[in-house]
Amino acid sequence: MYVCGPTVYDSPHLGHGRFSLVFDILRRYLLFTGLEVSYVSNITDIDDKIIERAAERGIDPAELAVTFEGVWWEAMDRLGVLRPDEVPHATAYVEQMVELVGRLVDRGVAYETSDGVYLSVAEVDGYGLLARQPLESLRAGARVEANEEKRSPLDFALWKKAKPGEPTWDAPWGAGRPGWHTECVVMSLDLLGDGFDLHGGAIDLIFPHHENERAQAVALGRPFAQHWVHNGWVTVDGEKMSKSLGNFTSLDDLLDRSDARAYRLLVLRAHYRSPIEVTPSTVAQAEDGLARLDALARRFDLGSPLDGSRYVVDGDRPVGLDAAAVDAFRERMDNDLDTPGALAGIFDLVRAANAALDAGDGDRARSQALTVAWLCAALGLSLRRDGDGDGSAVDPATAALVAERDRARAERDWARADELRQQLADGGWLVEDSAEGTRIRRP
Ligand SMILES: [Zn+2]
Repeated sequence: MYVCGPTVYDSPHLGHGRFSLVFDILRRYLLFTGLEVSYVSNITDIDDKIIERAAERGIDPAELAVTFEGVWWEAMDRLGVLRPDEVPHATAYVEQMVELVGRLVDRGVAYETSDGVYLSVAEVDGYGLLARQPLESLRAGARVEANEEKRSPLDFALWKKAKPGEPTWDAPWGAGRPGWHTECVVMSLDLLGDGFDLHGGAIDLIFPHHENERAQAVALGRPFAQHWVHNGWVTVDGEKMSKSLGNFTSLDDLLDRSDARAYRLLVLRAHYRSPIEVTPSTVAQAEDGLARLDALARRFDLGSPLDGSRYVVDGDRPVGLDAAAVDAFRERMDNDLDTPGALAGIFDLVRAANAALDAGDGDRARSQALTVAWLCAALGLSLRRDGDGDGSAVDPATAALVAERDRARAERDWARADELRQQLADGGWLVEDSAEGTRIRRP
């Protein structure tokens, strides 16, 4: 699997959290079924946005990228997303990208302009396959651009010639840097080989990013991804979650204010292609679901099968599970990853286990409860016996200390702010100052 990773210039938002969870769940499920999975997800560590943001801060783009890559992995760890098997960084692949662009130029499908090298999409068979639109209608919908040297507004940059002050690499067309679409096609083919199985990303990557990755492979005559998987939007009050719309809420904000498992459960409740709403009320509903699962774990004193292992495999199934329920789960998941159906089955089993125990059928109840824990683990969800989860949920008294510290800081009462920091630290919290105010988390 190749899944397009983040461009590291800012903290991850909810949309990043969703795609990471969707593909973590898919990967875990494929492993559960006994398949071998090689999971590659890149870090785009050179890009217009990185250069702009670094310039705003007066720091080196590479330094900015390293900082936000650290922020990214920290958020992924909090979400319980397994680390990829390989994490290619774009800047480590520039030589191969220059080679690929050279081959496209040699084949006559790419051309040089004063500001870069472009792929001529008219030369690519089946351009528009992923967008599900023919070239003509894509062209009609394309923005008219100022760049008059481009043969078509759909042609895209394979190589961008350097502007003053930008990081550069040498190339036959002059120093510059690779285009984003070239990064992923090079890294995916290099690490997974021609005709690799599955390429994933969020829905907004279908066009132009994935279309353009595919176009380069097609233009080179190399078989590309066999299957494409794209996950739906994250919406807040019906609008697409994005910074440009101003409704940006960082993933850390969500994780600070809720049980980290709640976002996974919320994502599982929707089909991966459907949009999801992330609001305090949908997160609270997910936490209610977690509470029911944890209550079952307490009632039956169940540990999570995830403890001590990275994922679970159905072939290692413990004895005594409800085989029919596991079969039903697999049938649903095999049907285009029907996680809402699979989850509904798990909650039916929670009800059944509780009812069986109430009715005095302890053996049956225990088998059903064990099956719940096993299937949750297959989805990357651990059950907890202690009522306090991992202690990462913020209780009202702690929230009050945080609010008081923010007021103290706003009033420049540094002594009081320091006192409050110490009180929070005494409570076992790591305290950080951010642009939005005091941020706390468990170490
Ligand atoms: Zn990509």
